[in-house]
Amino acid sequence: MAVREVIHWGDPRLKIKSADVGPWTPELDQLVTDLFETALVEDGVGIAAPQIGINLNLAVIDCSCGEDPDSKIILINPTIVKEEGKQVGPEGCLSIPGIHEVLERPQRVTIRNRKKDGAWYELVGEDLLARAFCHEIDHLRGRLFVEYFGPIKKKLIQRKFIKQLQVV
Ligand SMILES: [Zn+2]
Repeated sequence: MAVREVIHWGDPRLKIKSADVGPWTPELDQLVTDLFETALVEDGVGIAAPQIGINLNLAVIDCSCGEDPDSKIILINPTIVKEEGKQVGPEGCLSIPGIHEVLERPQRVTIRNRKKDGAWYELVGEDLLARAFCHEIDHLRGRLFVEYFGPIKKKLIQRKFIKQLQVV
C-alpha cells in the first residue's frame, strides 16, 4: 500500500475529462488500494484517480472513513442515471484542503456502475453518499465543486485557499 500525493486546485490535470477504465488488471487493484489508503490518511470520504494525476474514470468512496469495510465503494466508469430531491450542506475536497463551502446537491442519486469483471449494476446513495457520488463523478468529468459558484465567490474562495496554503 502506498499513500499517493494529492494534486491541488490549479493543476491542469484536474480539468481533464478522464478515460474509461478498460479490462481489470492487478495494477488497477493496486491503484484502488492506494486510493483508499490516500483518502483515509487525508481524512476524505472519497477520492478520484484524477486527484493523484491519473485520468481514469475510477474513484473510491468510504463514508465510514475506514471504520466499516462494507462501506467501501469502487466507482468504475460510473454515470448518474437519476437524481431526486435536494440537500444543502458543506462540501470539501482533498484537492482544495481547508475549504468547505455550502453547496446544494440531490438528496438521492442513482448511478450505473461497473464491477471489476465488467458487469454493470445500479447503486442508490442518499445523504452523504449521494453527495459523494456527485462529487467524485464530477472529478472524472474534470470538474471541481468550486466550479458551481459564480466568478466572484470563486475568486474569494481561491484567495482564501491560496492564503491557507501559504500558512501551511
Ligand atoms: Zn474532491
